[in-house]
Amino acid sequence: MDESARKAKNKAIKEKGQETRLRHASMRPVVVELKLDLKCLNKTERSKLFLYFAECRWLCNYLIALDSDTFREFSTKTRSITSRDKDGNTVPRELTMPMKFMQSVYSSLKHDMASLAAKSRKTGKKNGFLRFRSSYDSLELNQYGNTHWICYGPDGDSNGRYRNTIHIAGIKRPIRVFGMDQIPADAETANAKLVKRPSGIYLMLTYYIPRHEWNTESEKKPDIGLDFGIKTTITTSEGETFDISVREQERLKGLQKKLARQIKGSEGWRDTKRRIQREYEKLANKRRDKANKVYHDIVTGRSLIVMQDENIKGWHKGLFGRDVQNSALGTLKRKLQANPDVLVIDRFFPSTKLCPQCGHIHESITLSDRVFVCPVCGYTEERDVKAAKTLLLAGEHIMSCTCRERTRTPGERMSDFGAFYEAWKQSASRPEAPSSCDAKME
Ligand SMILES: [Zn+2]
Repeated sequence: MDESARKAKNKAIKEKGQETRLRHASMRPVVVELKLDLKCLNKTERSKLFLYFAECRWLCNYLIALDSDTFREFSTKTRSITSRDKDGNTVPRELTMPMKFMQSVYSSLKHDMASLAAKSRKTGKKNGFLRFRSSYDSLELNQYGNTHWICYGPDGDSNGRYRNTIHIAGIKRPIRVFGMDQIPADAETANAKLVKRPSGIYLMLTYYIPRHEWNTESEKKPDIGLDFGIKTTITTSEGETFDISVREQERLKGLQKKLARQIKGSEGWRDTKRRIQREYEKLANKRRDKANKVYHDIVTGRSLIVMQDENIKGWHKGLFGRDVQNSALGTLKRKLQANPDVLVIDRFFPSTKLCPQCGHIHESITLSDRVFVCPVCGYTEERDVKAAKTLLLAGEHIMSCTCRERTRTPGERMSDFGAFYEAWKQSASRPEAPSSCDAKME
């Protein structure tokens, strides 16, 4: 290919990419988890799939060991590299994985190095370095149609029915997957990740669907405030509570005791270790499932959800460490914060102390007071519900002074709450005061 043809091709790719990104920006990304049925592959194909993960690890570690100039000039066409075996001997390796995978390992490392350098520039400290990887469990498949693609049935395209198989680059046979029925017919499939877990190999496939608007009246629900209670509950301004604790299993404790008794490195020890990993995976699944369910219950139909940016990391360390660790709190909070309809109010707002009726700040309320009674106006409410309600009022006030149009009229909310909020903002002696309301719109 001559120079001008190459340039034209690159230009076409660039334009196509921009077009796709623009289209996706107005859509909603969803990640679906598909489990690969490895039984449908023969032994060679199966080991080839597992070899991809090993090869990525070799390549990754090889690249980390290179000095910066050699790294920069590294060609992803390179096929022979060296790696170390577990005794520290250098072994030559011939890579067989598709070029796209090489490129993705290389570019993700490049990205990591760039962010390390950016961090050191920011802090003024010495540049950190990347560690060697003992495992490489997540393989980036970044080009749908090239690295991976769904096999459509004979009548697949016309009525949107999928056959339950996908193709992965380098493996001839289509692989059966579980969970394909989760993908709606109007979805636009995009990049994916191949993830190795103790229970098998999964394909995390991203697809885009049109954004859903809560248009019909029956779907719409009023705005809501959320109070993240200590430990493992969430209280809403409507008085509903959600329990988000996930219990650690007795089985896990038993296995850990068993592991401690066994000889390290023995066959039995390894077996127990694998089983422990499976248990941890199950626990993580439960946590995610809980977070997804509660998230759905809270978010569906709402156009404004107000929550406070609370320091969950601090809770991990403090009094409630174990309970918080075993709950879906962190996952749920991340999900909520990623939602553009969720308004996060900064953590210094006194949602527990501020009276929503008269604006008095009730300083002497303690953790053990379950009911909030305002000493000035006598307003009485269950503590957590009150906190959620106060957050909702603050959120609605913030929204009413920014450009986004609200559906509730000022008369419908407690009309002078905004004044309390502004007064608090003026008087508050907080470590870091945000400059304006808009700063919290994120
Ligand atoms: Zn009051």
